[in-house]
Amino acid sequence: MAVPARKTSKAKKRMRRGHIKLNIPGLAPCPNCGELRKSHMVCPNCGYYDGKQVVNTNN
Ligand SMILES: [Zn+2]
Repeated sequence: MAVPARKTSKAKKRMRRGHIKLNIPGLAPCPNCGELRKSHMVCPNCGYYDGKQVVNTNN
């Protein structure tokens, strides 16, 4: 229900905004090296995807 802005207390406003936060989507540990990487993406640390090395990492 719509409430005039001046009727909404600072506490109520802050309680509502407590659920608004930045989220980092789709991060999961790499099954090969354990480094965090985005799911469905080649691991930037070891170059593995789907159990195979698909990108050469020179280190
Ligand atoms: Zn990896």
